[in-house]
Amino acid sequence: MDKWEYSESIESDSIVSIQAKYGHFIDGKFSTPNSKNYLKTVSPSTEEVLASISIGNEKDVDKAVNAAKEGFKRWSKTPPSERAKYLYKLARLIQERSREFAVLESMDGGKPIKESRDFDLPQVAANFFYFAGWADKLDISWGTKEMKPYGVVGQIIPWNFPLLMLAWKVAPALATGNTVVLKPAETTPLTALLFAELCEEVDLPKGVFNLVTGDGTTGAELVNHEGISKIAFTGSTSVGKYIQNAVGERDIGLTLELGGKAANIVYNDAALDQAVEGVVNGIFFNQGHVCCAGSRLLLQEDIHDEFINKLEKRMQTLRVGNPLDKNTDIGAINSKEQLEKITSLVNEGVNDGGELFQIECELPSTGYWYKPSLFTNVQPSYNIAREEIFGPVLTTLTFRTPEEAVEIANNTEYGLSAGIWTEKGSKILWTADRLDAGVIWANTFNKFDPSSPFGGYKESGFGREGGRHGLLSYLKVRS
Ligand code: NDP
Repeated sequence: MDKWEYSESIESDSIVSIQAKYGHFIDGKFSTPNSKNYLKTVSPSTEEVLASISIGNEKDVDKAVNAAKEGFKRWSKTPPSERAKYLYKLARLIQERSREFAVLESMDGGKPIKESRDFDLPQVAANFFYFAGWADKLDISWGTKEMKPYGVVGQIIPWNFPLLMLAWKVAPALATGNTVVLKPAETTPLTALLFAELCEEVDLPKGVFNLVTGDGTTGAELVNHEGISKIAFTGSTSVGKYIQNAVGERDIGLTLELGGKAANIVYNDAALDQAVEGVVNGIFFNQGHVCCAGSRLLLQEDIHDEFINKLEKRMQTLRVGNPLDKNTDIGAINSKEQLEKITSLVNEGVNDGGELFQIECELPSTGYWYKPSLFTNVQPSYNIAREEIFGPVLTTLTFRTPEEAVEIANNTEYGLSAGIWTEKGSKILWTADRLDAGVIWANTFNKFDPSSPFGGYKESGFGREGGRHGLLSYLKVRS
């Protein structure tokens, strides 16, 4: 099918105002960093420098942790219903300024505006509303005598859902009476800095939310600071392992949300057109920069050719380009480094013997882009079937029986998510029961709700975010 003609529909960026240079947000205000080192955050779709961001050093982190410690003395004694009011205020302000946040997120991170506007921002607000509702119900919810906050929580977040990962972490931490020092990813700090402005606007008490920007060295300073009572991390499995070792001998809390290589299993009795949509959404949403992406397509052997044919036709209709165009399906790859990683893994897949299909489309001449890609003829031992590519690249494997599907699906070091496509409810239950994955979708994929716990098995990490279980990650329980 030919692509329909369409006119560009560009979201204006005039709503966004970006400063040339940012400091850290510590003790309720922006302050001049101790560190004299800065990095530049660039738009991955234009390579334009958006702002200079301080690379927080030991002294900056120390100042933030000390502010959070002082803040904790007051915040942990603040009546829970009062804490809730601040979170409700933040949620409402996020909704009010949602277009500004969405545009900024797309400029800084490269994701399509229709995703930042219709997925990220509504989810961010929903998380603040949801956890605000829990703040004054903690003691009655578990039937235990006491639920105590940890103290100062160090939170380190990645670049794929910058503001949403902030919301997943900050909202439950504050609702439960902890205070926070957050380190956003170096390629996407701008929406976290705008969120800090909202904290000023709602008069969030001093020291409750602190933000230190920087790179991996800043993150490591936070992890190693003795004033931290808990670390919550989302990112790569390699950094997750480093953090686990670094805090191993300290009596502090730790939750790790790491990588994934999810199987999306399509049985031969599935509604194939719907499954194609689900598979496309499962891997191409957010350029495939999704830890729970359905990056391994497991097809029952007898539908392989028909399904691949439908899938390739559907992929060919995806529009790749300007993230601020409301028609764009696939935006820019988040960074040059990530583009190199994707390119190198795909080249390896071709050298191994995988058959590569890429859509025909023109990529913009500046910025970081990758064509939606599909591998067939893949052996389970190939790296493209084992490693997290974290890009718009789908790897196909086949199976004959449900038992074989489960065996292949579980043949990975990860265990974050999975998808099952079949018209038989009993087959969904049979399969789900046997999959080693923390989140399993049936006849859909990539659906999220603040009330639903999210987290992994095996090397995908431990602890849960979201829902009642997510609150427990920020509480010490005493009975
Ligand atoms: P990282 O794990 O390096 O980054 C995640 C966060 O950790 C960032 O804020 C990063 O800072 C910080 N960080 C880096 N090193 C340290 C350290 N030693 N101590 C404490 N914090 C640290 O992911 P990358 O950005 O390097 O991406 C690499 C791969 O990781 C991707 O290709 C993808 O496979 C996977 N990934 C998985 C994610 C998930 O959601 N599970 C999210 C992002 C990546 P900085 O940004 O400055 O490096």
